[in-house]
Amino acid sequence: MKIVMLGPPGIGKGSYAKELSKRLNIPHISTGDIFREEIKKNTDLGKRVRSYVEKGELVPDDIVVEVVRRRLSESDCAKGFILDGYPRTLRQAEELDKITKIDLVFNFVAPLEVIIDRVSGRRICRKCGAIYHIKYKPPRKEGVCDICGGELYQREDDKPEIVRNRLKIYEEQFRPIVQYYKNKGILVTVNAARTIDEVVKECVSIIKKLESYKV
Ligand SMILES: [Zn+2]
Repeated sequence: MKIVMLGPPGIGKGSYAKELSKRLNIPHISTGDIFREEIKKNTDLGKRVRSYVEKGELVPDDIVVEVVRRRLSESDCAKGFILDGYPRTLRQAEELDKITKIDLVFNFVAPLEVIIDRVSGRRICRKCGAIYHIKYKPPRKEGVCDICGGELYQREDDKPEIVRNRLKIYEEQFRPIVQYYKNKGILVTVNAARTIDEVVKECVSIIKKLESYKV
């Protein structure tokens, strides 16, 4: 099953993808992870990507498409994959169709307030980077890391007004992509205002149903 994951930042897409990848035994391909890895290894690609990231610009379609094409041609993708963080533009979606045939697109949605609540409650340890949530995963002592005793802080990016703005930008950027897959009849909307386990269970049952139709 070749799957694309769509959903705004903070909705938990990465967590669903990881869990699904385990249960379905197909690779989770995150373009963000690939880029971070290439930058870390300082490859030619990594250097090119870094020059855009440092300027705060989007990595151009040509580079992203090439990275995805190469990754999807690896043997572990033959049975299927879960693509996370791609496509980000309509052109990337069209290019993907030239590379392979996507079976299913999950579109994760949740009310604005739910996403803001999840993201703005996030606290990070200055020393070890551990992640907490004031409601869903609070530290034993307020403001202090359970693991190393470091101070917990809120990322500037996680403040409600910034999250709200980021979601608006996402909505505008992804509307054509969502419509593109809707027109193809492969888009399934999944309510993400639930626990990770509930969301993943629904995804699995959708996939199972689709697979039984194909047989
Ligand atoms: Zn810590």
